[in-house]
Amino acid sequence: MNILLVVSEVTPFVKTGGLADVAGALPKALARLGHDVRVILPRYREVEASGVSLTRRSERAVVQLDSRAREGSLVESRMPGGTIPVYLVEQPALFDRDGVYQAAGTDFSDNLERFSFFSQAMLALIPQLGWRPDIVHGHDWQTALGIAHLKLTRGSDRFWRSARTLFTVHNLAYQGVFPSEGWALTGLPDEAFRMGGLEFYGKVNCLKGGLVYADRLSTVSPTYAEEVQTPAFGCGLDGLLRQRRDRLTGILNGIDVDVWDPNTDPHLAARYNVRRLSGKARCKAALQRQCRLPQQPALLIGMIQRLAEQKGIDLLLETLPRLMEQPIQIALLGNGDPRYQERLTKFAKTYPDRVSVTLRFDEVLAHRIEAGADAFLMPSRFEPCGLNQMYSMRYGTVPVVHRTGGLADTVTDVTPKTLANRTARGFVFRSHAPQALLQAVERTLQLFADRRAWTQVMRTGMQQDFSWDRSARAYVQLYEQAMTA
Ligand code: ADP
Repeated sequence: MNILLVVSEVTPFVKTGGLADVAGALPKALARLGHDVRVILPRYREVEASGVSLTRRSERAVVQLDSRAREGSLVESRMPGGTIPVYLVEQPALFDRDGVYQAAGTDFSDNLERFSFFSQAMLALIPQLGWRPDIVHGHDWQTALGIAHLKLTRGSDRFWRSARTLFTVHNLAYQGVFPSEGWALTGLPDEAFRMGGLEFYGKVNCLKGGLVYADRLSTVSPTYAEEVQTPAFGCGLDGLLRQRRDRLTGILNGIDVDVWDPNTDPHLAARYNVRRLSGKARCKAALQRQCRLPQQPALLIGMIQRLAEQKGIDLLLETLPRLMEQPIQIALLGNGDPRYQERLTKFAKTYPDRVSVTLRFDEVLAHRIEAGADAFLMPSRFEPCGLNQMYSMRYGTVPVVHRTGGLADTVTDVTPKTLANRTARGFVFRSHAPQALLQAVERTLQLFADRRAWTQVMRTGMQQDFSWDRSARAYVQLYEQAMTA
């Protein structure tokens, strides 16, 4: 099958979150299953910094965006270590700037134009490559206009008419909503600006373009696929998702088990595996040193996240004074909302021996926290899939999570029963409240004091199969369904 992944970020080219990891790993897994996969994304300024090699291609396309025509071109690269072609759409005025979606915490004001251009340039450039995709797999709102165009403006196009589409929502909270004055930038027929199309309370909602017009829909965990059909999690689109529920599937993300492997990870002070765990203690000592935390036997809790309301950072802040009554240390790595950064910095000053806060995006430190922490906290309010709980389990770091979305699907709570049948993998709390978080940490401390039981839970986590191969097979099934639709 010829599969085109259309996506706005891809590891290692450019990454702001989990989407990039998915887009970096899924193509490789699909290729291993024998499919011809190619990836297309915008050429941001950041791509240069990633050090990948780029080759200029000759294809050109002009896209009309309201009253202005913009020309785009293609640069080609490859996924690391492989043969998978990666195409980058170049348009300096739109993409050669600091920041991917925003600068200094504020979205770029021309994001609708940027991603409308990307979507439409993609549709004009791919046919020039001499390769025809059977499946166009779009991800999130940045690519949704392309999905809508395939249905609404390419139905009789000789190149595109047989292509089928899958649209994956990685986070329903990000919808790409813009004032109606921007409609002309989409290039879509005016009839599509209606409630059954992309209109959303008088505005343009790009995500709806994918949700309404894709042949198949997916989200990134089975639980999230159910949650988004409810008013509490549906972000105003639950009605539409209920309408299309027979087209909607939840497929859990995998993780890149080559990049995230404590047995080979080049960033660690020592390496370890499920049979030989001793290196993990050295990783903990090294992490404490790097984070300027005293070398105590306290339970070291790691956290790595965008500092956003979704991630439950406010719940952590609210619970921190009481958490500090417990024998724990916290190593937090995060960036995002300046208000949270400020409050976290204050806590780190108040509890210098207990709380370490690093406010930046730091891939290397992320690996060291996953390896060096004893437990890993994810108090997310909602979590479509979540990757860090899986990285944690693979690194023998016991996850402590709120029961939602992919966290509910991947972490089996420690109970007498799950300990006895050796399925326990972490701690799950049900209510998003300080008391519940506190109790989960207390339960974690209890188990931590029982070395044998703790090691058992570590090992159970380390032995889980979170590889992409399993998820990739599920995606292939969806592609096949879309093609027979
Ligand atoms: P989301 O995409 O909602 O941010 P995910 O759990 O799906 O959440 O993916 C987040 C990814 O980004 C993980 O790989 C995580 O390690 C990484 N990450 C988040 N914040 C940082 C940071 N400050 N430094 C390094 N990596 C980070």
